[in-house]
Amino acid sequence: MKTVAVRKRLEAACAELDRSIAVLRSEQPVSRADFPQDEVDAGTSLAEGDRAEAVLASAMSQRTEILAALNRIQDGSYGTCADCGRPIPEGRLEARPEAARCVACQSKRDRLRR
Ligand SMILES: [Zn+2]
Repeated sequence: MKTVAVRKRLEAACAELDRSIAVLRSEQPVSRADFPQDEVDAGTSLAEGDRAEAVLASAMSQRTEILAALNRIQDGSYGTCADCGRPIPEGRLEARPEAARCVACQSKRDRLRR
């Protein structure tokens, strides 16, 4: 596992998320304040605000996953499934470098969450 390259990828992804989070945070109050009186427009901007909030929430949780992956690189547990302890296939880490679990364990978790 070439963790140096992975770390660079994760750090770049994290920096990008930081930028989008900053943009989302700065845009949100503006879009809500744009149409304070008109009820139709207020409804529209509220829906947009909710969508922006959902995007923001997913960006923040992705950022948390990336930071956790960087921590795992540091303590040497990167590339090992957090649930079953087996190595995560490199192809999966290639597609999702922040993955903490193998596909089987992750889909088990996803099923539990729903
Ligand atoms: Zn697993």
